[in-house]
Amino acid sequence: MTIRTRFAPSPTGYLHIGGVRTALFNWLLTRRLGGQFILRIDDTDAERNRPEALQPILEGFRWLGIAWDEGPEVGGPHAPYFQSQRKDLYVAAALRLLDEGKAYPCYATKEELDADRKAAERAKRNYVHRGRHRTTPAAECRRLYDAQPTVLRLKVPEGRTIVVDDLIAGKVEVQSDLVGDPVILRADGRALYNFATVVDDVAMKITHVIRAKEHLSNTPVQVLIYEALDYSVPRFAHVPVVNAPKSKEKLSKRKMKQFMTDDIVARLRAAHAVPAEWTDEQIKNSEDLNPATVAFYRTLGYLPAALVNYFGRLGWSLDDKTEVMPLETMIANFSLERVNNAPASFDPDKLLWMAGEYMKQLPLEDKVEGLLPFLRRAGLIGADVDANLRNKVRKVALACGERLRVFSDVYLYASFLFRDPVYDAKAFDQRINKEGMRDHLRTFAQVLASVTPFEPDAIENALKQYCEGKPVKLGDVNHALRVATTGVMIGPSVFDCLAILGKEETLRRIDAALARPG
Ligand code: GLU
Repeated sequence: MTIRTRFAPSPTGYLHIGGVRTALFNWLLTRRLGGQFILRIDDTDAERNRPEALQPILEGFRWLGIAWDEGPEVGGPHAPYFQSQRKDLYVAAALRLLDEGKAYPCYATKEELDADRKAAERAKRNYVHRGRHRTTPAAECRRLYDAQPTVLRLKVPEGRTIVVDDLIAGKVEVQSDLVGDPVILRADGRALYNFATVVDDVAMKITHVIRAKEHLSNTPVQVLIYEALDYSVPRFAHVPVVNAPKSKEKLSKRKMKQFMTDDIVARLRAAHAVPAEWTDEQIKNSEDLNPATVAFYRTLGYLPAALVNYFGRLGWSLDDKTEVMPLETMIANFSLERVNNAPASFDPDKLLWMAGEYMKQLPLEDKVEGLLPFLRRAGLIGADVDANLRNKVRKVALACGERLRVFSDVYLYASFLFRDPVYDAKAFDQRINKEGMRDHLRTFAQVLASVTPFEPDAIENALKQYCEGKPVKLGDVNHALRVATTGVMIGPSVFDCLAILGKEETLRRIDAALARPG
């Protein structure tokens, strides 16, 4: 039997990282076992059914490399893959159940249902709805329904134990007498989630339904729907939720807002990822660039492979220790048995660490390719990249070394290598306006003028020689030199920075710094 799994997102306008983790488990299983992964759009909720709400989801999956074998834009033998376009199938299935006496029309009003519920509460018994037409013959039910369409309810069998043998959650049993007759079709002909899902999962020959744990409570009703339709039940695997960092609450945009720090705001501004007129507060409240979304990590320059590795490890493990593993290893070893049946906790620090591990392994030329769009977006380089500029970016990547964990780190550590320094007033005051330091900078600039080749080692040796026998600390001159040429106190080795800037530009910057009032 070929394994077929599916992920069924609602088009919400963004790809949630909890959803990515669920989709990834679906995808990994099919890649391991040679099956198909289907993307089906759960867009029965008409209000949210906007094309622009789907694109970020598709783009997110594409960027991560999670390719769907059937679904939007790629098509497939079970098209359409949008639930909004499959209404006729749901209606036909519901009418079949009506004709077979397994469903009935229900005309009870909300007031009647509320009154029944209250009566049950008063009598301290469980409330389960059993409609008046449960016992009406099928032909009569059909006649009533055709004359006056209304909601259709499934007849839940009496006295049954419904068993869900979940591959992650284990065996879950529910007594059918505690399950009210569920609505399967609304009066206007729209199907309810539980019904549309079963009809589609059957039509699309899904063998394994792997989805968020919050749907485990829907599963007994879905099992009854499979049975009523005489379909065999697929395997179920309900994946525990992803919790927000250090929290027992589910990861949500609201919970993740705290990670929209000033540093992130600065990076988003540098990348022109948000409208220039937005205030910091507006940026922090951004809907799509929230750390609960994939777009956030893409915009900040995380490598997609790092995200896939991190999400794959979120609740699944190869063994007790391996964190960083190539995708092939994950594919070759993925199994639902090793998915932890307890909530996983999202850890942004660990994700950033993982991003750094992937960046370290990235070949230099790929790093350059990755950095170029980030530099371009920030206006630090133009559209054309000649050999000289490429070489410079190569040197910048090398100079940043392991500081570069995500591409937007380049803004923090190297913007000043592409534009004039923006002086940090405090650093300038502490490092340059220090007793005697301006003189040292002036004299050392003369030394630098004759350093050839203008390479990091030669510059470093020149500084060492300069400081020898003088009552000044090498570190102090080094710091002053850094602030004079870069404007700030953080960045790659100052010798690397000067070599990248070149002799002429270095001397120009020292002059400019010295020309500033003390
Ligand atoms: N649209 C539903 C969700 O996103 C799909 C649930 C399912 O996979 O059955 O939760």
